[in-house]
Amino acid sequence: MSDKYILALDQGTTGSRAILFNREGQIVSESRKEFTQIYVKPGWVEHDPMELWSSQLSVISAVTARSGIEGRDIVAVGITNQRETTIIWDRKTGEPVYNAIVWQDRRTAAACEKLEKDGYGNMIQKRTGLIPDAYFSATKIAWILNSVRGLRSRASAGELCFGTVDSWLLWKLTGGVNGGIHATDITNASRTMLYNIHTLEWDEELLKLFNIPLSLMPEVKTCSEVYGMTDSTVTGFRAPLSGVAGDQQASLFGHLCINEGMVKNTYGTGCFMIVNTGDKPVASSNRLLTTIAWQLGDELVYALEGSVFIAGAAIQWLRDGLGIIKDAPSSEELALGVEDNGGVYFVPALSGLGAPWWDPYARGTITGITRGTTSGHFARAALESIALQVRDVLKAMEKDYGRGFSELRVDGGASSNNLLMQFQSDILGMEVVRPAVMETTALGAAYLAGLAVGFWDSIEELKKQWTAERFFSPSMSDDKVQEHIAGWQKALAMARS
Ligand code: ADP
Repeated sequence: MSDKYILALDQGTTGSRAILFNREGQIVSESRKEFTQIYVKPGWVEHDPMELWSSQLSVISAVTARSGIEGRDIVAVGITNQRETTIIWDRKTGEPVYNAIVWQDRRTAAACEKLEKDGYGNMIQKRTGLIPDAYFSATKIAWILNSVRGLRSRASAGELCFGTVDSWLLWKLTGGVNGGIHATDITNASRTMLYNIHTLEWDEELLKLFNIPLSLMPEVKTCSEVYGMTDSTVTGFRAPLSGVAGDQQASLFGHLCINEGMVKNTYGTGCFMIVNTGDKPVASSNRLLTTIAWQLGDELVYALEGSVFIAGAAIQWLRDGLGIIKDAPSSEELALGVEDNGGVYFVPALSGLGAPWWDPYARGTITGITRGTTSGHFARAALESIALQVRDVLKAMEKDYGRGFSELRVDGGASSNNLLMQFQSDILGMEVVRPAVMETTALGAAYLAGLAVGFWDSIEELKKQWTAERFFSPSMSDDKVQEHIAGWQKALAMARS
C-alpha cells in the first residue's frame, strides 16, 4: 500500500511554496520559487498574477517530481496565502485587468485617511474589525476600478472577478475559464474591509461606500470543506481542494492554538501576533485588529491580531547598516559575549511603530551609550528590542481580552535564536514554546485540508502528533525585569518625542 499525503500550497509575499505532509504531520518534500517584486514607484508594490500562478504551478510539479510521489497519492490540497493582496480578472478570458496590488502597497493611504476624516472609521471598525488602512483590499479594488479605463462598465456587467491570492489560485487550479470556482475562505474575506464579521456576509453598505458591485465578490466558504477538485489537465492530478486560510490564521491553526486564549507569535522581518478569542469577537480599545481565526463547519472562531513592523529587520540592520555581524544567527554569539545590555536600549522604529502605538513619526533611537559600550551591547539591545516590542503588543491584547495568557507559541526565522527566546520568556514571565515543525503556516493549511477529507479524524488526533522542540521558562529576577521595562519605556518615549 502506498502512503498518502496532503499538499499544502503556501503563497507568500516573496515566494510560492509547495510542501507535502505525511499522516504524522511531517514534511516529506518541499519546493520554493521566488517571483518578481514590482516596485512601480516609492510605496507601490505589485506582483504579476500570471507569475504568481506559474511559480505556484512549477513548485507543485517540482515537489511531486522530487519526492517520487504520484499524483494519486495526494489526497487533498490546502492553500494558505499572503493576505489582502488584490487581484481582479476577467471571468471569460481569465486575463487579469491589472497587476496584483500587494498588501504592503501604500497608494491608497490618502483615501484611507479621508475615510477617517469623513467619520467612517468607527463604522468600518465595528463591522469589519479592521482599522481603515491601505493594507486591506477595499481601497485597492476601488483604485483598480477607478484607474483602468473601461473597468467600471465591465464590473457593472458582471464580467469581472475580484479575489485575494487564495481565490486566484483556487480559480486557476479548478480549471479557470473552463469552470473554475470563484470563492474565498472566511479568513481571507475578513481582511478585505468589505466583510461583516458579525453578520458573516459582504457588507452592502461598505460595498456601496467603495462603489464595488457585489457581482465582483467571491463566494465565502469555511476553512475546511471541499471547494472543488483540481483540474488534472492543469495540475497533473485530481484531488479535492479542501483547506484555505490566510497565512497568519493558518499559522495559528498549525500551532494548534485551538483553545480560547492560546496565542502565537511569528518572528520574521516583522512580528505577527494572533490570539484565539473563541466564539466572541473582542473589540479592541488598543488599536489591535479583530478578525476571524477560522470556521470549521458551524464553529466560528475569532482572533485579535497585532503586528510589529521591525523585528528580524533590526538584526538585518546590525548586519547591513552597522556591519557588526556577518549574518543574522551570529547576533546570538555576539550578544552572548556581554553579560547584559550594559544599559543600552534600542527602539527599532526604523519605519515608525506598529501596534499598539501606531506612530508613523517615531524614529529609531539608541539610548544609554557610554565609553564601555561595545558591539555586543548593540546586538543584545537589538535582540531585546524584538522581545520588548512583542511584550507591548501582548500586554495590549491582554487588556482588550480581559485576562492573561499562559504560554506563547513561536515560529519564524528569528525564533531560532535561543537568547532571544529566553529573554522573551523572562520579560513576559511566561513560557515560550517552539514547536518541532516550524512550517506552521503550511502545516495549518494541510491540517485544514486533511480534516475536511477525513485524512485526520479530529483535532484531538492532531494534538497527539504535535510536539514541542523546546520550552523556555522565565528565570530572570523581578527586579531585573522591571529594570528592563523601565529602560525600554524611557527609550520609547525618546523615540516618539
Ligand atoms: P520573513 O518571512 O519575514 O522573510 P523569516 O521568517 O524568513 O522572515 O525570518 C527572517 C528574519 O529573521 C530576518 O529579518 C532575520 O534577520 C531574522 N533572523 C533569522 N535568523 C535569526 C537568528 N538566528 N537570530 C536573530 N534573527 C534572525
